[in-house]
Amino acid sequence: MTARLAIDGGTPVRSKVLPYAHQDINEADLAAVADALRSDWLTTGPRVPVFEEALAGATGAKHAVAYSSGTAALHGAMASLGLRPGDEVVTTPMTFAATANAVLYVGAEPRFADVEPGSMLIDPKAVANAITPRTRAIAAVDYAGQPADYDALRAVANAAPGGPIPIVADAAHSLGATWHDRPVGTLADLTVLSLHPAKILTTGEGGAVLTDDDDRAAFLRRFRNHGIGAELAARRDWTYDMVELGYNYRLTDVMAALGTSQMTRLDEFLAARRRLAARYTQALAGHWAVDIQAVNPASDPAWHLFVVLLRLDRLGVDRGVVYRAMRAEGIGANVHYIPVHRHSFYRKRYPELEGSLPVAESAYERLLTIPLFSAMTDGDLDDTVAALDKVTEAYRAGWRG
Ligand SMILES: *Cc1c(COP(=O)(O)O)cnc(C)c1O
Repeated sequence: MTARLAIDGGTPVRSKVLPYAHQDINEADLAAVADALRSDWLTTGPRVPVFEEALAGATGAKHAVAYSSGTAALHGAMASLGLRPGDEVVTTPMTFAATANAVLYVGAEPRFADVEPGSMLIDPKAVANAITPRTRAIAAVDYAGQPADYDALRAVANAAPGGPIPIVADAAHSLGATWHDRPVGTLADLTVLSLHPAKILTTGEGGAVLTDDDDRAAFLRRFRNHGIGAELAARRDWTYDMVELGYNYRLTDVMAALGTSQMTRLDEFLAARRRLAARYTQALAGHWAVDIQAVNPASDPAWHLFVVLLRLDRLGVDRGVVYRAMRAEGIGANVHYIPVHRHSFYRKRYPELEGSLPVAESAYERLLTIPLFSAMTDGDLDDTVAALDKVTEAYRAGWRG
């Protein structure tokens, strides 16, 4: 006898829904924000460079340039490549749409390369196949917090027809991760962070670009500030010069204060995520109804997300049913991601892509994100595993292992 599911009127595992992600704000964070609010500078003041230094220091990048969101930071990163209409950037479909959207913002075209089946990270061989004489960059995504294979990607980038091309890392998930003991922030030419509340640490909305290149960093500082050369603090009089078209993508001092305070807790956040991910792995590795994301032994992921792939061959229902049943049990499951080329905007723009990225498309049918965040307790995790057991057992179909 299997337990009656909450979706069928049974008792839920939890009465209040556990979210899949949640920010972790403490009293020190609140005090830092209050201090900033009481100061003379709510924006464009001294707290932004302090935060940038903390980010650069923790990641080993020479420069960190703070932005008002990860998406704005991606826009800045793509603009810093000097892309022009007709240029192409090879990227992954297994990401939030912002990665590809940023390529379109600057008039270039995203070209999608499929992912590897177990890790769901961009497949370097597929990238090599997607490269044309018009390819100007590769934009990888550290899906779920695991760095992409930057060594293989670098080899592909160096062999591009017109000579070496730069690599952009969308590291929205992977602040604090390492690849062969090298930190995220040093693996690509430009590394983009998101500081959205669901991510490793937060400034509410916010982002940053990390780079070792002085000229790119200077461009990124102008681009976030209308294309104006000198920033406010460096001005001696009223004059300023807008040298190119930019945007207002500045992070406020209030949010930078939160970011600096959160940065002092980065190691604590990462340790909590890694411990919880290990506990999930122990509970779910070899589970009859799910596969877990394959992790390269050379990487130490930041574990932004914990994703499982449902064994649909052993379940009598599709992912949507499992998702709704998990929600009814009080577990805030989610799905990351609808492959970018399957959104209607992208379908209309590139109808030929339908069915052309089979690994991402079949992974999408099976994906389920289960809760993982630094403030989650072992009890929360055990509830999640119990709900997953309960739901999959109830839908077990024809398979007895
Ligand atoms: C969150 C996210 C973004 C966008 O970041 P925002 O800060 O929300 O603008 C971009 N790419 C990926 C992979 C993300 O997860």
